[in-house]
Amino acid sequence: MDKNLTKLKAALGARLRENEPLARYTTFKIGGPADYFYEAQSKDEFAAAVSLARETGLPLSIIGGGTNLLIGDKGIRGIVIKNSSQNISIRGIRGSMEPGSSKKTVFVEADAGVPMNKLVRFTIEEGLSGLEMQLGLPGSVGGAVYMNSKWTKPVGYVGDCVYQAEILTPSGEVKAVTQDYFHFAYDYSILQKTGDIVLSVTFALLQDSKEKLWETANTSIGYRRETQPQGVFSAGCTFKNISKAMALTASTPNLTTSAGFLVDNAGLKGKRLGDAEISPVHANFIVNRKNATAADVVELIELARNAVKEKFGVDLEEEIIRIGEF
Ligand SMILES: Cc1cc2nc3c(=O)[nH]c(=O)nc-3n(C[C@H](O)[C@H](O)[C@H](O)COP(=O)(O)OP(=O)(O)OC[C@H]3O[C@@H](n4cnc5c(N)ncnc54)[C@H](O)[C@@H]3O)c2cc1C
Repeated sequence: MDKNLTKLKAALGARLRENEPLARYTTFKIGGPADYFYEAQSKDEFAAAVSLARETGLPLSIIGGGTNLLIGDKGIRGIVIKNSSQNISIRGIRGSMEPGSSKKTVFVEADAGVPMNKLVRFTIEEGLSGLEMQLGLPGSVGGAVYMNSKWTKPVGYVGDCVYQAEILTPSGEVKAVTQDYFHFAYDYSILQKTGDIVLSVTFALLQDSKEKLWETANTSIGYRRETQPQGVFSAGCTFKNISKAMALTASTPNLTTSAGFLVDNAGLKGKRLGDAEISPVHANFIVNRKNATAADVVELIELARNAVKEKFGVDLEEEIIRIGEF
């Protein structure tokens, strides 16, 4: 056996599992086994495991909450590390402490494995504004920064209040980078190109009234409950919304940019293949009714993509990420 794999096994012990089924680590509940799997419980464990895994030369995949992933039925070759680091702390306050002064900025640092909902609740309870509209966003801080996850009512991107982050570069360097490093855009951060791994993120948040923040958070949650399927296995929105320019070019109905609207109006709400179904509640969600395979989901994605192309002349791009062997 390769000496670096032996070193990895020795360092991670019995917590490094072989042939670990991955479906349970995703909200889709789909996916075959990982050759090697390790769940890191702290930032240090995460960083150390990533470095050791890289030394083996085997392919490395990172999972946060597994809420945006479609893992192939044949699983993932190489090493999968799930990040479950949990720390949140207040790092400092900037601004006048005088009564009656303008709002102060408070810096909150969260490990990349912290569930977004835990962080959002923490910030609201501390009376800090910036992330409150994200209540209900599943997944981890690291995944949310990687995707620059967003909410539309009211609008907010996770990247908006990123102040800095600690990353582990592909060459093994741990460094602090500021918001501009990420080139945040719709469903995009530079991490999708660089292969950097996020260890922790510091958010700059503004002091605000707790009641007001809970109101905004509850509006978001309420809208989710009204418009999205609840209590089902899914990976959220299947496709990205289209750009305004594309909506104008294709002259979509009412110049909509909504991928869900286009899939719905291609007549696909409730369409089923195997146990995969285009949600009758929200056409941009594919749900696993119980035993769907990744192959079922892929077939349904292609069917929807082709139907929308044919009816509206629009090419839909996937928001969910496919990983592993299909
Ligand atoms: C019911 C439901 C509702 C949703 N609603 C929304 C929504 O409102 N808005 C929205 O934008 N999305 C939504 N999503 C999609 C998903 O929740 C988000 O994209 C989420 O931020 C992904 O985080 P995650 O931790 O689950 O990432 P994962 O799915 O685990 O991973 C996604 C990508 O991030 C990478 N990654 C994860 N952690 C790190 C790290 N520490 N460093 C580097 N890369 C990392 C992974 O390698 C992978 O490429 C929804 C999903 C579901 C199931």
